[in-house]
Amino acid sequence: MTAKIAYFSMEIALEEGMPTYSGGLGILAGDSIRSAAGLKIPLVAVSLLHRKGYFHQRLNKKGQQVEEPVEWPIQDFLKERSERVEVTIENRTVEIRAWEYRVQGPSGFFIPVYFLDTDLSDNAPEDRTLTHFLYGGDTHYRLCQEVILGIGGIRMLQALGFNQLTRIHMNEGHASLVGLELLEQAAAKRGGNDISLEDVEQVRKLCVFTTHTPVASGHDKFKLDLVKKVLDGHPAFQHKDLIFPEKMLNMTYLALNLSHYINGVGKRHREVSQLLFAKYTIDSITNGVHVPTWTSDPFQRLFDRYIPGWKNDNFTLRYALQIPKAEIWEAHTEAKSRLLELVNRQTNLDMQLDCFTIGFARRAAAYKRGDLIFSDLQRLREIVRNTGKIQLIFSGKAHPQDKSGKEVIFRIFKAIDALKADIKIAYLEEYDIDLAKHLTSGVDLWLNTPQVPLEASGTSGMKAALNGVPSFSVLDGWWIEGCIEGITGWAIASDNNNMHLALTDAELLYIKLEQVILPLFYHHRSKFIDIMTHSIALNGSFFNTDRMMQQYVMNAYFR
Ligand SMILES: *Cc1c(COP(=O)(O)O)cnc(C)c1O
Repeated sequence: MTAKIAYFSMEIALEEGMPTYSGGLGILAGDSIRSAAGLKIPLVAVSLLHRKGYFHQRLNKKGQQVEEPVEWPIQDFLKERSERVEVTIENRTVEIRAWEYRVQGPSGFFIPVYFLDTDLSDNAPEDRTLTHFLYGGDTHYRLCQEVILGIGGIRMLQALGFNQLTRIHMNEGHASLVGLELLEQAAAKRGGNDISLEDVEQVRKLCVFTTHTPVASGHDKFKLDLVKKVLDGHPAFQHKDLIFPEKMLNMTYLALNLSHYINGVGKRHREVSQLLFAKYTIDSITNGVHVPTWTSDPFQRLFDRYIPGWKNDNFTLRYALQIPKAEIWEAHTEAKSRLLELVNRQTNLDMQLDCFTIGFARRAAAYKRGDLIFSDLQRLREIVRNTGKIQLIFSGKAHPQDKSGKEVIFRIFKAIDALKADIKIAYLEEYDIDLAKHLTSGVDLWLNTPQVPLEASGTSGMKAALNGVPSFSVLDGWWIEGCIEGITGWAIASDNNNMHLALTDAELLYIKLEQVILPLFYHHRSKFIDIMTHSIALNGSFFNTDRMMQQYVMNAYFR
């Protein structure tokens, strides 16, 4: 079956060993493609090769991050294609090749993924490095990368024979230049170089756009001088009002203007985006995770026994309610011991299986507030002394240029040191797919403390839910939809208690940890397991990419 939908994403996470992603956006892209393969959705995906990856993270004793380049054996994972296409950057011709990866579903149906690469001997030295670093370099480097992804990507798909595309899906604004290329091609088809309003309408009919973040730094903007230099002579300059409102190239506005369907990644994120982009109609499709990928081995075996067919029909995870509690606990204990073995191998902390274990792992960005739980160290010591022991496991990389993100890691290390006599705390280097699998399945509680309303979705808590690990989170992103208080987990919120109205998020966190969560874990284990089971049954059955991709099919791809 030839592909009908082209999916463009700056990052796609496919497997351990391929450093072609930095965080949630890439993980979501990979999970979407895996679900598309399972559901036999005729889709083809395009990204950049990222020959030097994102980076290896090293943390010194003080918690200062040092980045090292990644070398990965591309040929072990990808097959080179012989097709070549060209784009023009600053009036130089840049040749592009593609490397193919096939994501195979259980039926044998596969989704081809193409990683674009400019490291070819005919290219100028500065152009050869354009597909080396994910989110590396300056704005000039980023714009050139986006020319390769958007304009080069469309040309490559055409060269590969994908000539019956009925939808182009821009996964975040990095790929918006797809629209410029389609406009130019539509004009050329009419024998001109002059873009008309009909061309714009035609491109809009083809394109759909998913916005992923309300954080301003997540929306690429380029000064017009720079755009003129890089894309000199492009016919898009005739339509300045459409392409360059605000006298900038704003990749988000370009995508908004050239798409007929736009969505945010959750209900709250839709509302926030609708306020940000008031002129446009924004729908929502709530994110998910790929169930077979993120379910740990012990839970895979348990589901195989009690929920036949769960991998192909994720809705059936609601039958998790039938699984005996003792077996849920046993599977969890196995996943937990695997994680603690890994932690104890990497540290000398000697973490204990019977100790309540809290996990927090995600990109180290200031708004995610990884150090919120350390706002009052004395309070935390008292909770542990009076109510029950805890141990904590952290992980996450900060973007090399994100100073405030790096400071979050630094502050967590300071707290680790200050608490070392009272609480065992690990910060693991190199957060990646494999570590995420261990962490989201192996802790007793998944903590999330973003600054409202900056978390568009978050997906790691969904991975945890599948493995019976409840979330304890600020009400933002997916948790607004996923939290049923005391049933699927807990909100870091005031619970309509007037006494709590003036309290900070940190104080609310301490109160509920001390009064509700720790007593439940240590003294009412059976009730705690009820919550674990409901995480699977209510949240695992819904927050998955099979359900999500079916919504994309219905709302964005085939209508
Ligand atoms: C799931 C995942 C993320 C995204 O987690 P959030 O909860 O959305 O922040 C980031 N990095 C890795 C390696 C992941 O597996």
